Amino acid sequence: MSVNVAIDGPAGAGKSTIARTAAKKLGYIYVDTGALYRTVGLYSIRKGFDTKNAESVVETLGDIKITLGFKDGEQRVYLNGEDVSEAIRTPEASMGASNVSSIPKVREFLFDLQKDIAKENDCLMDGRDIGTVVLPDAQVKIFLTASPETRAMRRYKELVEKGSDVKFEDVLDDLIKRDYQDTHREIAPLKQADDAVLVDTSNYDFDGSVDAVMAVIKEKLDK
Ligand code: C5P
Repeated sequence: MSVNVAIDGPAGAGKSTIARTAAKKLGYIYVDTGALYRTVGLYSIRKGFDTKNAESVVETLGDIKITLGFKDGEQRVYLNGEDVSEAIRTPEASMGASNVSSIPKVREFLFDLQKDIAKENDCLMDGRDIGTVVLPDAQVKIFLTASPETRAMRRYKELVEKGSDVKFEDVLDDLIKRDYQDTHREIAPLKQADDAVLVDTSNYDFDGSVDAVMAVIKEKLDK
């Protein structure tokens, strides 16, 4: 049976960088499920659809084939064969992902893909509903969070490093909006699973955060 580690938490908690590093240390693949929602959002944006309009987003699902590839444990995401791993990282795609993720048919559409990967691979999967909905039987569940300001500052630095001229206030506003949407949606809202361990990284640097996550994983897997 494969080993599954579920890491959930709000935007900008450092899930992806921390999870990627932890997965490397464990020799597991790292699955970033946010990339799947971003890909659905990107497709709708490219088609000129409003990502809040469930009807038009659902109509596009029949035209979309999303596949994940793993190279040295690193995930690449393909939209109808095109590698969109970078194209899905814009602020528009982030908001589009948050919008489409509240549509039940979109979540259903992506469910099997996530399940199948976890069944076949030892993996560390991050998202919003992995411990609660996608992998309720994961051997390890972690809820990773940090204060909104800490998370927004991390995201802001990331975007600036990539050459974007965003304002910190806009990043913080976006993040608060996304948190609200993600925790208040009717379907699979972001919430800590009862059996998840809470890790708050507000006062940790990157290495400290990885150590905290690895300590939880080791403790659970040793049991
Ligand atoms: O993790 P990331 O910020 O890339 O996720 C983008 C958006 O996708 C989130 O704001 C959330 O609305 C949605 N998402 C989700 N369930 C997941 C992963 C992401 O609803 N498992």
